[in-house]
Amino acid sequence: MDTKKQFINGEWVLALSEQTREIINPFNQEVVAIAAEGNEEDAKLAIKAARDAFDRGEWSQTSATERGRIVHKIADLIERDKEELAEIESLDTGKTVEESRGDMDDIAGVFRYYAEIADKDGGEIIDSPIPNSISKVVKEPVGVCGQITPWNYPLLQASWKLAPALVTGNTLVMKPSEITPLTTVKVFELMEEAGVPNGVANLVLGAGNSVGQELSTNTDVDLISFTGGIQTGKRIMQAASVNVKKLALELGGKNPNVVFADADFDTAVDQALNAVFFHAGQICSAGTRLIVEESIHDEFVDALVKRVENIRLGSGFDEKTQMGPLISEEHLNKVVQYVEDGKKEGVTVATGGRRPESPELQDGFFYLPTVLTNCTTDMDVVQNEGFGPVITVEKFTSEEEAMKLANDSIYGLAGGVWTKDIAKAERCVAKMRMGTVWINEFNVYFPHAPWGGFKQSGIGRELGKSGLEEYQETKHILHNLDPQALNWF
Ligand code: NAD
Repeated sequence: MDTKKQFINGEWVLALSEQTREIINPFNQEVVAIAAEGNEEDAKLAIKAARDAFDRGEWSQTSATERGRIVHKIADLIERDKEELAEIESLDTGKTVEESRGDMDDIAGVFRYYAEIADKDGGEIIDSPIPNSISKVVKEPVGVCGQITPWNYPLLQASWKLAPALVTGNTLVMKPSEITPLTTVKVFELMEEAGVPNGVANLVLGAGNSVGQELSTNTDVDLISFTGGIQTGKRIMQAASVNVKKLALELGGKNPNVVFADADFDTAVDQALNAVFFHAGQICSAGTRLIVEESIHDEFVDALVKRVENIRLGSGFDEKTQMGPLISEEHLNKVVQYVEDGKKEGVTVATGGRRPESPELQDGFFYLPTVLTNCTTDMDVVQNEGFGPVITVEKFTSEEEAMKLANDSIYGLAGGVWTKDIAKAERCVAKMRMGTVWINEFNVYFPHAPWGGFKQSGIGRELGKSGLEEYQETKHILHNLDPQALNWF
């Protein structure tokens, strides 16, 4: 088995230490690849390459139209290799190939969106108090960007960072999650093929506490864009203070899905399922907190449980599979503990609450889709991000109470409201303290809509124009065409 290499200054290289890591298929624990395991020293080389490339200025001074052309080409190549990329993503994460194909379409869409808007903002001329002068505001790249991604949507999260950084003329060092590096390696091959110049985009493989830590503390890095857990985000924020790096943090979520009695019942049940069990709940915006009006609560839970018990678990490569395994044994153990703690807090397990017993699922990191009822907002199981296929159900009797429950979280990533009363829907979403809110919908995102969190769900936005601006500095230039002495002194 070839070792998957790092990409530093236009060269494919093993780790300096020659260390490697086995990449495991979470469905059966087979080794699917061996990857280089870089550390601080590899990160330093990559940062130097990115620094030198930025300081040479070739990429930042290439026209935005030309950068957009290259990024369009990356999108073309992702579309060309979609099937291969989807299969690799499923091998690495356990998600169904159908889901991975959808991810690849989204990823190509992200590269295309940023390629298209690359040359649409030439700056602006603003009014000047100085006679005979030109006063303009332009956008420039931030510099060297450190980009750290998680395992749940390995390539999708990478695309949200790579595309805007590239079109705005930055150079970068990316570190994917050490357990899911494979599609990111492949996309760096495609970026090389598309013509991204040497040193502009560098890839270092390895652990967070070595490679990630170096990216956060190295003073040659100007910006850190991180997607991952809240505790890691806090550590990165502290580390990044060393040279006051710019920060974009996409942290977790504990997202409320509020269902009023006047909602379309069957659609709300169907979408509540999708909101939480898609990709086994390993989604930052999963609708893990179901908040249902008391008058329909029992009927809603019954309908939900019936559907949940029919969810088919299995290999992501089996067309019949609806839900794959969790990413790793370590993560499975966390989900098991999260539910066990919930049981101690007094929740009722309406279905699931354990690992499946079928012999064919024993080698995979499976957990049964789980519905927990009799949950209250003060419980840890309602407050903490479980990041597994587990939904907690709370009840409310008034709109005011529903909104109080929805907002009772340290997180503020996303949330949804289900009702046919449009005035009520608009009142509710105005009160919800989250970066994305859906009315009669859940978990929809697209390249031109900004994504990110209020409160402790993060800082800054990805996607949309806001996602581009994270990678830009704003410069005001005043050009006096007819300078005069001031004669003040
Ligand atoms: P994680 O925080 O453990 O790891 C994320 C990345 O950070 C990995 O690449 C890891 O190696 C690296 N890392 C770990 N320690 C580090 C350190 N000290 N310094 C620098 N880098 C370090 O998160 P995870 O378990 O991979 O992903 C799950 C989490 O990601 C969940 O909390 C989820 O909500 C969040 N997430 C958020 C979004 C969003 O858009 N808000 C999207 C996807 C995932």
